[in-house]
Amino acid sequence: MKIYPAGHAPSRPGAPDWFTGRVRLDPLFNPEAPDRVQGALVTFDPGARTAWHTHPLGQTLIVTAGLGLCQSDGGPVRAIRPGDVVTFAPGERHWHGAAPDRGMSHIAIHEVQDGRSVDWMEPVSDTDYAAAPEG
Ligand code: MN
Repeated sequence: MKIYPAGHAPSRPGAPDWFTGRVRLDPLFNPEAPDRVQGALVTFDPGARTAWHTHPLGQTLIVTAGLGLCQSDGGPVRAIRPGDVVTFAPGERHWHGAAPDRGMSHIAIHEVQDGRSVDWMEPVSDTDYAAAPEG
C-alpha cells in the first residue's frame, strides 16, 4: 500500500503549447513498473481547453466540478458535468476543457507507454470550440 498525501507534488501550469487558457495540473499518482497507470487532477479556467491530442493507451476522465466540454474528432461537442465519466480509446483524437463561462475540473487517468501518455497536435480552433454542445 502507498498513500500519496494530498498535495504531495507541486501544482504546475499547463504548457501553453498544449493548452489554450489557464490550466492547472495536480499530480495524484504515478506508475511504478510494471504498473503503468497515472492520475492527475486537471483544473480549467472558463474557456480553457487542451489542444487536440491522442493517448497511446486511451484515457478516462472523471468530472469533479463545474461544466466542461469535450469532442472526439468527427463528432459533436458534448457537455460534461460532475459525476460524468468519459473514456477515449487508444489513438482516438479528441480534446477536453471548460465551458466558455464556467470552469471545470476532472481527474484524468491514463497509462504510460514508453514514457509517454499523450501525443499532442494542433490547438482547438475558436470555431470548433464555439460549436454548440449537444447535452
Ligand atoms: Mn485526453
